[in-house]
Amino acid sequence: MSSAEFHKHGPGEEGQEYQHPPPPVAPSAGVVTATNAPVVGSGPTTLVCPSCHATVQTRVQYETSTRTHLMALLLCAIGCWCCAVIPYFKDSCKNAAHHCPDCGAYLGVYNN
Ligand SMILES: [Zn+2]
Repeated sequence: MSSAEFHKHGPGEEGQEYQHPPPPVAPSAGVVTATNAPVVGSGPTTLVCPSCHATVQTRVQYETSTRTHLMALLLCAIGCWCCAVIPYFKDSCKNAAHHCPDCGAYLGVYNN
């Protein structure tokens, strides 16, 4: 009776070599941020909706962004505890998401 045990399986000599990460794929020259999103401001912007092609004034929805939280954190850090909530009420501290009032298409965001 010879019970074969596989304890002898040490670290293989081979298999040391394939720790290579794949070479980074160089992006082709010219960064194309393929967004046909129009440039929007912090407030309602008049533009041609790329979705319904109507000239509309965008409907702006302010949403809290990382910056809003950072601002609140900063206010906390400098001791303005009671002011820390202000960024959440100030639209200027939020991102302005623009939508078409006609078709509701998302038109872009303005990062405050
Ligand atoms: Zn539209």
